[in-house]
Amino acid sequence: MDLKSLRIRYALISIIMGLLVLLAAVSGHYLLTHSREQAAQHIDNRQRLLAQSRAIRDSVWQAREAIGQFLIDPDRKQNQDRINDTIASAMKNTQRLLAMHPRLNPKQLSRIEHVAQLTQQLQKAANQLIKIRLDSNLEFPSLVLARDEMLPRQQLVFDAFATALQETADKQANDPREFRLYRMLIHARYRWSIIISDVRMLIASRLGSYGMDSMTIEEHDIELYLADFRTSMQKLKSMQHAPEAGFQTSIAIDEINKQYKSWYHNYQKLIDIHNSNKWRSDSIQLHDSVNPLLESIWSELLSFDASLEHNAENDINMLGNLAQQQGLMIWLIGLVGLVFVVLGYIGFDRAVLKPMLMLGQAFLQEARNGTNVVDLPKPGSTETYNLIRAFREMRNQIHSRQQALEHQAQHDDLTGLANRNLLMQQLSQLVEQNKRHTDNISLIVLDLDRFKEANDALGHHIGDQLLIEVGRRLRSELRDKDLVARLGGDEFAILLKDAEQHQARKVCKKILKSFEQAFDIQDKQLYVGASLGIAVHPQHGHDAETMMKRADIAMYVAKRNHLGFAFYEANTDHYDMRYLSLAHDLREALIDGALTLAYQLKYDINSNQPVGAEALVRWDHPELGEISPVNIIPLAEQLGIINRLTSWVLKQAIAQCAEWRKQGIFMNMAVNLSVYDLLSTDLIDQISELLEQHEVPASYIVVEVTENAMLIDPNNAISILQRLDSMGLRIAIDDFGAGFSSLGYLKKLPVDELKIDKSFVMDMINNDNDAVIVRSTIDLAHNLGLKVVAEGVESDEIYEMLRILRCDTAQGFYLSEPESPAKIASLLAEIQLQPEWPRKHG
Ligand code: C2E
Ligand code: CA
Ligand code: CA
Repeated sequence: MDLKSLRIRYALISIIMGLLVLLAAVSGHYLLTHSREQAAQHIDNRQRLLAQSRAIRDSVWQAREAIGQFLIDPDRKQNQDRINDTIASAMKNTQRLLAMHPRLNPKQLSRIEHVAQLTQQLQKAANQLIKIRLDSNLEFPSLVLARDEMLPRQQLVFDAFATALQETADKQANDPREFRLYRMLIHARYRWSIIISDVRMLIASRLGSYGMDSMTIEEHDIELYLADFRTSMQKLKSMQHAPEAGFQTSIAIDEINKQYKSWYHNYQKLIDIHNSNKWRSDSIQLHDSVNPLLESIWSELLSFDASLEHNAENDINMLGNLAQQQGLMIWLIGLVGLVFVVLGYIGFDRAVLKPMLMLGQAFLQEARNGTNVVDLPKPGSTETYNLIRAFREMRNQIHSRQQALEHQAQHDDLTGLANRNLLMQQLSQLVEQNKRHTDNISLIVLDLDRFKEANDALGHHIGDQLLIEVGRRLRSELRDKDLVARLGGDEFAILLKDAEQHQARKVCKKILKSFEQAFDIQDKQLYVGASLGIAVHPQHGHDAETMMKRADIAMYVAKRNHLGFAFYEANTDHYDMRYLSLAHDLREALIDGALTLAYQLKYDINSNQPVGAEALVRWDHPELGEISPVNIIPLAEQLGIINRLTSWVLKQAIAQCAEWRKQGIFMNMAVNLSVYDLLSTDLIDQISELLEQHEVPASYIVVEVTENAMLIDPNNAISILQRLDSMGLRIAIDDFGAGFSSLGYLKKLPVDELKIDKSFVMDMINNDNDAVIVRSTIDLAHNLGLKVVAEGVESDEIYEMLRILRCDTAQGFYLSEPESPAKIASLLAEIQLQPEWPRKHG
């Protein structure tokens, strides 16, 4: 299980929280139902117990009632039975309550057990009460006292009085003193009688119902009488030993005193009993046994009830506590929830929000400039880890795509070299860094010579391969820190960082030398020339654009002048800028027919007669005037329109040739071919078509090619020339001696004549070397069986010299300048023409 995963964490926490809440809910629910059940049970218990306790109390209450009833009316059997019944019922209810002992707590149980004991005791006490009540002896203790203690003594008192009176009565008649004694005895006995009678009354009224008030009065009276009696007795006592008192009397008085004292003692007891509530035994029983028992039972039951109440209170307290606990639990869960929420938020913040924020900034940064300076968050969870990884992946992808795009934007697809953008960018940077002009920066623009024609002729595939190889060769000739770029087409550029003019020159030479080696492309050996133009910072320009323009101009100068390479020169600028705009005009001219042909006559030196003409292109530019073919031809080559130009020239020239023939002028017509014309066989078909069309024999047409025509694809060029030769055309090598002369070609080629380059001819009078070259060329040609044409014949002397040197044909301003057909016609009219110039093939 991936604990770093937010989902898993969330699920875990949810499960834990859920379980916690569930646990709390279940336990809460259980506790609540349990305690509710418990409480219900308790209430039920309590009610049952209370009911049972109330039943006991009812029975006890009824027993009390029954006892009261019985005491009022003891003789009714019914009343006695009721006592027994109610007590029995109380006992039975108590037993029932005891039978419910599982519902009782020990204290309550012991109480009820006590109640059981008490009811048993109550039963006994009640029986005792009944017994007492039904037996008056038992009932009134004062009666017993009166009967058993007082009655015998009062009787003895009476007896003693009788004894004394009897003795005294006999004597009193004789002695007045005796009489006093006698009277005293009578009085005392009378008092005693009253006392006894009053005491009887007192007891009666106590037992009867004369009321307590009368009882106190009676008691008081008795006390008065007793006091009087005691006074009488004291008097008697004082008289006891008097002579008049007889023996019997004296003993009797003592007896009276003695018995009285004893009686009085009991009387006092009686009074005490009477005044106490124990004056009847049933009441004692009631007060001492029954009532306390009833009280005890009652109070035990009350305590029992109270303890039940207490239990109820406990239950309520318990429920209260439970509610409190539940409340606490809810608080706790709330607290735990809160802690989880806070921790969750902190965790969420750390694991998600912060990383999201940082990622957001990273995205923003990425979107703004792509350079990521913002720290990426440390992954806190699998999700953020994945997100960050995805972001990194995306960023890498974007960067690599961007790099690819940048590379694409700055590089050439075909060669993989830098493109114009990158070159200009770096050049600008270097120029910018070189504000103080401490360094030299050289920009070389290189243009392949005659590439477009080669491309058209050999196919784009080979053209592309050639460009790739050129790029490789350039790269291999340069330092790593130099930048090689392809500007487009066959144009390349080289940025030499930190290179002065002489170093740039060295580099150009090196490159040109390397181009002397053939390029091997698909079993073909192609030779490609190049023209290089150089602009050096800061001398030739202060910004990249200017540098570029000027290197370009220098390149055109080099190309036009066949210099190989050239540095920019300020004074050529104006002219060359105009030259560049010619490209456009030339295309138009070719289409609009603004080009014309001039024809320069060739003279047979022996006969001094014109034998042929060379077609030379002319362009009368509307603004620039007459433009030399020296400029037109390279431009056409450069623009890839040289084939069209050649076609046009051929068409014009052959037509002119036919025209002249119609006029009776049978002259050769020489046409110049470019190296690019020798790359495809189109030319052959075209020429044969034209010859057929104009009915001109092939032998009247001369094609002039320079040695350079062999340079690009010599084998192809040779085979084309061979075809032309076999068609019957004449082949002339133009500008012989000016290019790199390879005599090997002369053997291979089906050449008919050599045209010695005018540079040698023009100077041959003044320059011995040139004269030697002219002479040796004429000899060489003749040895090979070739005719020799000298061009650039500007003077009579040269003409004569050529005649001496046995040159065959001459061409030059001395003899004839290139002229329009009309002019040629009028010229020829002046000359006596020979009908037939000796033909090659016949
Ligand atoms: P090129 O084939 O050697 O033609 C002869 C050039 O020498 C012509 O120059 C001509 O006017 C010039 N010339 C003739 N006689 C004399 C002389 O006595 N002294 C001097 N200094 N120059 C003389 P142009 O007409 O200016 O042509 C220059 C070159 O342009 C030609 O050299 C030829 O290579 C090329 N060209 C001209 N027309 C055509 C063309 O139709 N097709 C091709 N492919 N090249 C052409
Ligand atoms: Ca020529
Ligand atoms: Ca020439």
